[in-house]
Amino acid sequence: MEKEKRSPHIILASQSNLKFKETLPIKWGAQTAMERGPVVASNTNHKARNAIGAHSGSYTVYRALSIASGKFPPMHRPDLNNTQSPVKIGPYPQWKDPLKMVTVDPWGLDPQLNFKPLFEEGYDIRPTISVTQAHLQIPEINEAIDKGRLQVDGSIIRENRDVCVTKVAIDPVWYLPGVAERLNVDEGDLRRILFQETGGMYPEFITRPDLKVWLPPIGSSTAYIFGKAEDLANPKVELTCRVHDECNGSDVFGSDICTCRPYLMYGIEDATRTAQRGGVGIIIYYRKEGRALGEVTKFLVYNARKRQEGGDTAATYFRRTECVAGTEDARFQEFMPDCLHLFGISKIHNLHSMSNMKYDAIVKSGIEVVNRVSIPDHLIPQDAQVEMEAKKAAGYFSKEPKKTTEELKKVTGRAIKE
Ligand SMILES: [Zn+2]
Repeated sequence: MEKEKRSPHIILASQSNLKFKETLPIKWGAQTAMERGPVVASNTNHKARNAIGAHSGSYTVYRALSIASGKFPPMHRPDLNNTQSPVKIGPYPQWKDPLKMVTVDPWGLDPQLNFKPLFEEGYDIRPTISVTQAHLQIPEINEAIDKGRLQVDGSIIRENRDVCVTKVAIDPVWYLPGVAERLNVDEGDLRRILFQETGGMYPEFITRPDLKVWLPPIGSSTAYIFGKAEDLANPKVELTCRVHDECNGSDVFGSDICTCRPYLMYGIEDATRTAQRGGVGIIIYYRKEGRALGEVTKFLVYNARKRQEGGDTAATYFRRTECVAGTEDARFQEFMPDCLHLFGISKIHNLHSMSNMKYDAIVKSGIEVVNRVSIPDHLIPQDAQVEMEAKKAAGYFSKEPKKTTEELKKVTGRAIKE
């Protein structure tokens, strides 16, 4: 049991003698996994660590609670036997370009295979991506089958109406020089502000400029693939894609102030239909709740919108968010395409999104977009008309004309107590 204990000795990151022979270099964007080198952030051997932060994003804190309460052996190493992906994903040329993907580590998929010799040497390299297969049971898909928009085909949609998918969980791994470059800021400034805004959580931002990779304590992303995963990289195969930012209130609870769940479900329906006609579909779900401002801010904005003079109108939709949060949007879609490049995507035939920020980021990253698909009107809840009309007026993509300022004032939502 003694062996299970980690040394209680605390090592301050500001100590200068922290480079060890066990520390492997990371050459971001190298041609092979072994040349690139693994990201080692596990705590079982601090001498081998070559990244800032810890694995599992925000769940790091729960792991700490488990260890503190004696329920989790701190020296535990995962047994990765049989955990590998059931489908082949990559490697793609995008994996070997140091600037194409700066917030995802593609070699974090099945590291026990990619870095086999290093595992045999005893390195504790943890996966940051995992892949599995599942069946989805969704009321909106049932309705689409009832109405004849989707058909049971026995493979993509089973006889019991289950939709078969491959799903991929992606933890964030940030290559700081690439993140700085994408934002067009100095890496030193970025590191200093990250240090300050996290309340000094990661002194290595300042003390260890040699460490270039950070595992940020934020949510992961999840991709749902309809059809064959390897077809995503083939530009000749029709691809339907939705890049969806989390909205717990609508996505999970069916709250009607926005169009998030209807749009998500329409994306799933269309991705399924595309797979059934020989194409492939992908929905990527990003944990960026409330435009990455968080749900607390979001609910404050809802109240401010509904209580303002004149009520909740499309004319004042964006302004209220900025008043409360300091910015209209904190999602930084610049990094969103990284998850598309993970799958080797170079062409999207049908992009389900009305957001110009998403569209621009995708196109700028080198992916061709053929059609943009907006949500059909009949799927928009009444109270969400405010959001929809405000977005269209602000230049979001839609096939319908935008409303004038006077017309926007007439698009109103429910009052706060209704
Ligand atoms: Zn929403």
